[in-house]
Amino acid sequence: MSNVQVAVVTGSNKGIGLAIVRALCKQFPGDVYLTSRDPGRGQAAVAQLQQEGLRPLFHQLDIDDLQSIRALRDFLKEKYGGLNVLVNNAGIAFKVHDTTPFAVQAEVTLKTNFFGTRNVCTELLPLMKPYGRVVNVSSMVSSSALGGCSQELQQKFRSDTITEEELAQLMTKFVEDTKKNVHQKEGWPNTAYGVSKIGVTVLSRIQARLLNEKRKGDHILLNACCPGWVRTDMAGPKATKSPDEGAETPVYLALLPSDADAPHGQFVSNKTVKPW
Ligand code: NAP
Repeated sequence: MSNVQVAVVTGSNKGIGLAIVRALCKQFPGDVYLTSRDPGRGQAAVAQLQQEGLRPLFHQLDIDDLQSIRALRDFLKEKYGGLNVLVNNAGIAFKVHDTTPFAVQAEVTLKTNFFGTRNVCTELLPLMKPYGRVVNVSSMVSSSALGGCSQELQQKFRSDTITEEELAQLMTKFVEDTKKNVHQKEGWPNTAYGVSKIGVTVLSRIQARLLNEKRKGDHILLNACCPGWVRTDMAGPKATKSPDEGAETPVYLALLPSDADAPHGQFVSNKTVKPW
C-alpha cells in the first residue's frame, strides 16, 4: 500500500473540476485523480493537462452509478488505504430555456446533484484519513433558493438537528411534488437546480456535524462552497470568472493547512464564510 497522499475530484474532465485538478497538481503534495464518467473524455482531459507539464492520474467515476463509486472506493482503499482530499464537483443543470417538463428536470437534477453526491459521500467519507479535507461544490443559488422556500421548509433546512435521512426524504418529496404539480403550493421554489444545491449545502452541514460527533480527533474539515459565476459549458461564456478563478475557493478549502480548525460545516464563497 502506498504512503502517498491522494486527492480525488469528481466530474473533472472539463469546467471547474478540470481547473481544480490543474491547481491541485501544482499545489497538492501527492497523487491527484481526475475522474470522469466517460473514460474517453477523461483521458483527453488528462492529456490536456500533460501538455501543460502536469501529471494527473485517471479513474472512471459516474456519480449516478453506485457500482462505479464502489469500484473507486475499493481502488483507493487498496492502493492508498484511504483518501486525503475529496472534491465533490460533478453536477448538472438544465438550460433556462430547456423545454423538458419541470418534473423530469427535477428528478434528473436531484438524482445527480443531490443523490449522486450523497452516494459518493456515503462510500468515500469513511475512507477519509486524519486531517482530510472534503469540499462539496454547491452554489449561491442554494442560498437564493432557500430564501424562496416556505418558512417551514427554511426552518428545516437551517436546523442543526436535521438528519441525512430527513434531508433525503425532503429532496424526494420535492421531486414527487413536482410530478403532482403541487411543489409551489407545498412551499418549494420553482428551481430544480436550486433545490438540489440546497440539498448539497445542508448535506455538508449534516456531515460536518457527524464528523464532530464521531471523528473529532481526526481534524477532518468539510465544507460546501460556491465557485462563483464561471465560464463553463454549464454557465456559458458571459460568466465573470475563468475556470481557474472558479477553482480558487474549492482549492483553498481542499488545501486548508493541518493546523486549521475552521472553516468546517460552512458555506463558503470567495474564501469567505457566508450566513446560511
Ligand atoms: P460543467 O462544465 O458542465 O462540468 C460539469 C462536470 O460534471 C463535467 O465534467 C460532467 O461530465 C460532470 N458530471 C455530470 N454528471 C456527472 C455524473 N453523473 N458523474 C460524474 N461526472 C458528472 O459545469 P461546471 O460549471 O464546471 O460546474 C462544476 C460544478 O460547479 C457543478 O457542481 C456546478 O453546479 C457548480 N457551479 C457552477 C457554477 C458556474 O457558474 N459554472 C456556479 C455555481 C456552481 P460530462 O462531461 O461527462 O458531462
